[in-house]
Amino acid sequence: ANKARGTKVAAGFALGLEGGEMGKVVTRFPPEPSGYLHIGHAKAAMLNQYFAKMYQGKLIIRFDDTNPSKEKTEFEETILEDLELLDIRGDVVTHTSDYFDQLYDLAVKLIETGKAYADDTEREQMQLERREGIASAHRDDTAEDNLRHFAEMKTGSTEGLRWCLRAKMSVDNPNKALRDPVIYRCNPKPHHRTGDKWKIYPTYDFACPVVDSIEGVTHALRTNEYRDRNPQYSWMIDALGLRKVNIWDFSRLNFIYTLLSKRKLHEFVNNGQVRGWDDPRFPTVRGIRRRGLTVEALRQFMLLQGPSQAIVSLEWDTIWALNKKVIDPIAPRYWAIIEDKKVPVTIKGGPTAVEVKNLPKHKKNPDVGEKKTVYSSTILIDQEDAKSFEDQEEVTLMDWGNAIVRSKSVDASGNVISIEMDLHLEGDFKKTKKKITWLSQSTSEYPLIPVTLLDYDYLITKKKLEENDSVKDFITPVTEFREFALADANVKDLTKGDYLQFERKGYFIFDHVNDEDGRLEFIRIPDGKAANLA
Ligand code: ATP
Ligand code: MG
Ligand code: MG
Repeated sequence: ANKARGTKVAAGFALGLEGGEMGKVVTRFPPEPSGYLHIGHAKAAMLNQYFAKMYQGKLIIRFDDTNPSKEKTEFEETILEDLELLDIRGDVVTHTSDYFDQLYDLAVKLIETGKAYADDTEREQMQLERREGIASAHRDDTAEDNLRHFAEMKTGSTEGLRWCLRAKMSVDNPNKALRDPVIYRCNPKPHHRTGDKWKIYPTYDFACPVVDSIEGVTHALRTNEYRDRNPQYSWMIDALGLRKVNIWDFSRLNFIYTLLSKRKLHEFVNNGQVRGWDDPRFPTVRGIRRRGLTVEALRQFMLLQGPSQAIVSLEWDTIWALNKKVIDPIAPRYWAIIEDKKVPVTIKGGPTAVEVKNLPKHKKNPDVGEKKTVYSSTILIDQEDAKSFEDQEEVTLMDWGNAIVRSKSVDASGNVISIEMDLHLEGDFKKTKKKITWLSQSTSEYPLIPVTLLDYDYLITKKKLEENDSVKDFITPVTEFREFALADANVKDLTKGDYLQFERKGYFIFDHVNDEDGRLEFIRIPDGKAANLA
């Protein structure tokens, strides 16, 4: 199946980038430093990295810092960490603000050549005019007037703040993105890099094509909701006589039951619905990595999406199923027994003293290493297994051998309190219906380890929120589930972020040791089977 997928990925990209030359391709990922990266950003970043590598070219990480009201240095640092978590390193890190002087000069040039004008039309009036295709009262102002107003904007005076600068593209083009878009606006707030030097900032529509061209970007990857703005992007470059840039569209990523907007994610954090940006319920890069999603699975998934133009809400199952294929061959296997209602079993004919064996942590992959399995005459099993045993049934104790259930004591509510079994090592494990996991009771040298198994539900109850839906009406009331268990002593060797399998229970990632109760906390990694998400 992996092979088939590989072929499909290759096929999807067989065309590569139009005009892409070996050693010359330059791509860029331009995050705004206003929040943490989410899985949608991961798609953009990974595709940019993919093409840069494919052509042995260059990847620019550019902080798109043109709005001082939203941006902070702190977010630049966290975004670089997020990229690191995705195994992405740019060849250079730049800022749109590195080009503020040039952008300013180019805006002046547009005014001088009659391709931009200053406008103080009120916001609503401007919206109405753009909708109806009506020219602004200032559209035909002289270059002199426009330069004067732009200079006033630059001072940040009360008068200046009333104005903006617009590109003179079209009054009534059917493509509304071409109806004289705003290219500079005022903002008196200090900028995290340029301080109070500027009171005017270029808009994305202006800065993006200009900086792409200046920085040598050959292929600008953009989500296809910008498609209407592609002619506008080219207009800026042509109007200024700058080097052309190819645009490569891809579709925006959406997932069911998931919000991918920085503003909404900020709200979840602020309202305490999650514990932070790295909460395992969050679609942030930090959140999904903490939940156990591997970079390899993410990459495979993004490349499968490739150049698809369909804007659909994807199922999480798909990506988790890919992830399972990545971790299954390398995740060491341990055992755990649910602590509540665990059942002690006395094994007759077993070892009189404690015995310890070295066994592989993964039966099919010896490279994963060895673990110690403890054998004694008292073991613990899960209540669910105990309940299922028939009288005199022969079952298989995994990594040990067969045993026959001789007696079972049950309390009034039907819970099994204890069991006695006779070891029957001559028995054939191929003939038993039940192969169960078990743990020897604690010994001083090999104590059972108290652990917490965490599982999570989606944060919202609706697959796809519509425009008018209010998030607060669709908050899942309980989204975190904790189960206490005892695990074999080998889990002591795990370090934060290790993947593992608790056999017959599922895949987990070791998160941390809880300060309050001292338990090791493990987060369940969804495996893409719908049943597991229910
Ligand atoms: P948000 O709406 O979450 O605030 P944004 O698009 O404003 O996101 P940017 O930091 O500007 O955030 O995004 C950086 C890059 O990531 C852009 O090139 C953008 O197209 C891309 N991107 C953002 N969200 C998605 C998504 N859901 N799917 C694919 N690419 C995305
Ligand atoms: Mg943006
Ligand atoms: Mg956005």
